[in-house]
Amino acid sequence: MSDKIAESSILTESPSQKEAAEEANRTIAKVPGGTGLLSNPELGAEILNKYEESEELKAENIRDPLTGAFNRRFLDRQLENKLQSGQKFSLIMMDVDHFKDFNDTYGHKNGDRLLIELVRTMSARLRLTRLNGEKDFMARYGGEEFAIVLSNVDDPVIAKNVAENLRQMVSDSKFNIDDKTKIEKTISMGVAVSKNGDTPEDLIVRADKALYTAKDNGRNRVEVAGV
Ligand code: GH3
Ligand code: MG
Ligand code: MG
Repeated sequence: MSDKIAESSILTESPSQKEAAEEANRTIAKVPGGTGLLSNPELGAEILNKYEESEELKAENIRDPLTGAFNRRFLDRQLENKLQSGQKFSLIMMDVDHFKDFNDTYGHKNGDRLLIELVRTMSARLRLTRLNGEKDFMARYGGEEFAIVLSNVDDPVIAKNVAENLRQMVSDSKFNIDDKTKIEKTISMGVAVSKNGDTPEDLIVRADKALYTAKDNGRNRVEVAGV
């Protein structure tokens, strides 16, 4: 591996080799002091490997392996930090409707595909609705339940609008089981706005209660927690 990178930085015979060499050089340039290592490809490749391994490890520690959403550990840490530093934000808890029936009908593998697809489309939409330049994010809370954090959103009306927008997007789109079978799927959501003195647990419980009200009220709905 180290030989390959060293070689491909020098020999650029085919377009793919050239691309690989350019990619390797770009990555080396990201390592602190990395550009200086280009003159010593052996050492550079070794350091690059270590750097990439540590980056992968970091990514694994904060991501859910199935869906690529942030994981529960990352969510807990973010909630803790935001509440401790007095930031105002909103938390949306979301759960797939009748997911057990979906698994029973179409199989667990399609269930996994559905979760992956949900995260992909919802995360993409979240980037478009990002408010105040702050990062909003989606984390897998467990099973088919996800949490969405809207940074700097302390107005329940705005938070509800974002949730409503995401809910609508999911219910409007069809999921492809195969070429012939396209099905509709819905999600329910509960919204809570952070308050002074909240613990992460307090906030999650409020959003979760609102989520279960949404389920009780017929699913494919958004409900906002009372204050
Ligand atoms: P509700 O509308 O009330 O939420 O009904 P539901 O069927 O979605 O809820 P329930 O809690 O009864 O079932 C959740 C299902 O989610 C059961 C479980 O097998 C499935 N599930 C949880 N995690 C995964 C996963 O990673 N992949 C797949 N395919 N299914 C999962
Ligand atoms: Mg469910
Ligand atoms: Mg559930």
